[in-house]
Amino acid sequence: MQRTKRTLAALALLLAAALGGTAGCGREGSPPVKGPQPGQLPVYQVRSGFTLPDSPTWNRARKRGHLVVGAKEDQPYMGEKDPATGTYSGFDIEIARMMSASLGFDPATIGFRTIASANRETALQNGQIDYYVGTYTINDNRKKLVGFAGPYYMAGQSLLVRTDENDIHGPQDLDGKRVCSAAGSTPYQRIQKEYPKAELVAYDTYSVCVDNLLTYQVDAVTTDDTILMGYAAKVPDELKLAGKPFSKEPYGIGVPHDDDALRFALDDALAVHEANGDWKKAYDATLGLSGVPAPTPPAIDRYPAG
Ligand code: GLU
Repeated sequence: MQRTKRTLAALALLLAAALGGTAGCGREGSPPVKGPQPGQLPVYQVRSGFTLPDSPTWNRARKRGHLVVGAKEDQPYMGEKDPATGTYSGFDIEIARMMSASLGFDPATIGFRTIASANRETALQNGQIDYYVGTYTINDNRKKLVGFAGPYYMAGQSLLVRTDENDIHGPQDLDGKRVCSAAGSTPYQRIQKEYPKAELVAYDTYSVCVDNLLTYQVDAVTTDDTILMGYAAKVPDELKLAGKPFSKEPYGIGVPHDDDALRFALDDALAVHEANGDWKKAYDATLGLSGVPAPTPPAIDRYPAG
C-alpha cells in the first residue's frame, strides 16, 4: 500500500507538470501527452470586410486589433496550455478560433486568458475578455449575468476515481466519501444540493482535484465527462470514469450580458461551421482523441434579445 501511495504521489507530480503546473512545477518542454498536432487542425477562413457595429464588444476588439478570449488551461482535450510554448489547444480552443475567423479576426492573433469556473461571469462583466469558451454550461441563473451563444456541445456530469476504487459506481455511492469539484461549477452545486451526504471539497481547478485524488486526499472528482476523460487518458493505469453521466451540460460561448449583436453573430457562425464540416474536423482532432465518435451538435438556442 505504501509503495502504491508513493508511486501515485510521483504520478501526481508528473500530472501537475504535464497539466501546466497549477502546483507550480510546470516542467520546461513537457507538452500535452496526447494533443492535436497543428497539421491535423482545420484552417478557418477569416471573413474579410465583416463588421458588427451594434456590438460594443466587437468595436472594442476592432480598436484593439484582436480578440481576447477566456478559456481553461488545464483541461486536456478541451482547453490546455502547453507550459513550454504557452500555446492553447483543445476543442474549446478550436471553437474560439472558428468564432474569431467568422468575426473577421485572424485566429492566430487571439489573446487567450485563463479564467477559472468561479470567475467567468465577473470576467465578462468587467470587460476582461470579449467572450469565453471553456466547458461553460448554459443555465438560467448564469443567463441573468451573461449571455450565451450555442450550445455547441452536450456534456454530462460524471465521476473520476482511482482504478483501485470498487465502491463508487454513481452519485448514489458518494455518502461519506470525499468528493472534489471546482468552486462555482454546476457539478459542485448538483452534489451539494442532491447528494448532501457527500463530503464536498472545492478548489479553483479540476487539476488540483485530480492531484488530490492521486494522493488519496479525496475519493472522487466530479465534473463533466469531457474533462474527466482527458485526465483519465493521461494516466489510464491510475484513473477511470465511474458509472454513467448523470446530468446534461449544454456548453455555450459566454458573452457580455447585453451584447445581443455579438451573441447572434456567434450563433450564426456556429451554424456555418457546423454545416461546413469545421466543427466535426475540430472535434475529431481534439475531444475525438478520447475515442468517442463525433455526435451531432445540439440545436442552437437563439433566444430573444433583452
Ligand atoms: N460545465 C460545468 C460548469 O460550467 C463544469 C465545468 C466547468 O467548471 O467549467 O460549471
